[in-house]
Amino acid sequence: MKKQVSWVSTLLLGTLVSVSPLAGASTLNVIASFSILEDLVKRIAGEDINVNVIVPPGADVHTWELTPPNVLSIEEADIIFYNGFGLEPWLRHVEAIADDSLTLKAVAENADFAPLPIITGQYQGANDPHMWMDPKGAAAYIKVIAETLAKHYPEKAEAFYARAEDTYRALDTLDQAINERLEGIPKTNRFLVTSEAGFRYFARAYGFEYDAIWGLNNETQGNARAMAEMNERLAKTRAPALFYESTVPCIHMDALSRATGISLAGPLHVDAFSSQDDQAYDYPAMLRYNAELIHGALGGARPE
Ligand SMILES: [Zn+2]
Repeated sequence: MKKQVSWVSTLLLGTLVSVSPLAGASTLNVIASFSILEDLVKRIAGEDINVNVIVPPGADVHTWELTPPNVLSIEEADIIFYNGFGLEPWLRHVEAIADDSLTLKAVAENADFAPLPIITGQYQGANDPHMWMDPKGAAAYIKVIAETLAKHYPEKAEAFYARAEDTYRALDTLDQAINERLEGIPKTNRFLVTSEAGFRYFARAYGFEYDAIWGLNNETQGNARAMAEMNERLAKTRAPALFYESTVPCIHMDALSRATGISLAGPLHVDAFSSQDDQAYDYPAMLRYNAELIHGALGGARPE
């Protein structure tokens, strides 16, 4: 999209050209839709490719609206990697300003990884987009990313595939470490409850029962009916703790915690990293941080 400037950016260029994040950067530009995907893309892209992100760490990928700097970076990009399965409802605005030279690649939709259905709410039964919460899902993303980059920049294909091999090994090691960390949680306490149903793949990977108040952050969060139903389910199951996530208000889980007497823990990270100086700053750090928090809240045995 380098040469063609859309009417949107024509309107914006007058005020924003001086703050373009791409000034003087590499001429190979790709974009990831949100911070977690940005991390995975950077692991394969290496130094030669400029990787920008649309939804920055801390912000919710489900409810984002494109900003003027986003639009400028889209104008410069060769490829946009997005998750798909409805994670990015704002993608329709990207499609509206994209021309034919921009490749849009949905990594989850193209990943060789079995999707699970969303368990509750407005999107119940649709494919759950949060596949990255299982390191094996993240590895399937890596394969799509490496193949897409290799097709687009064939002169660097060998380097992309070599980095992909390293990343598969790192993800495998991470998977084992998370498993070991969660191992000490007694079987009777292996029940995870979150606000948004974003931990289904995680729960499957590490052997947890799972429930949530709503299905996707795209929908109305914590409406009266969803809250009443969750309250009813909690009365039957007695989960050892309730969790909220970093990108949602904790008021809903807090209300359920008060109503049921079950303790509240959080924030877990699922849709965004923390800031760089906080604990969930990249993909491995995020999973380790979550595992530590879950281990503590569900009564895992202390390390010896
Ligand atoms: Zn989510």
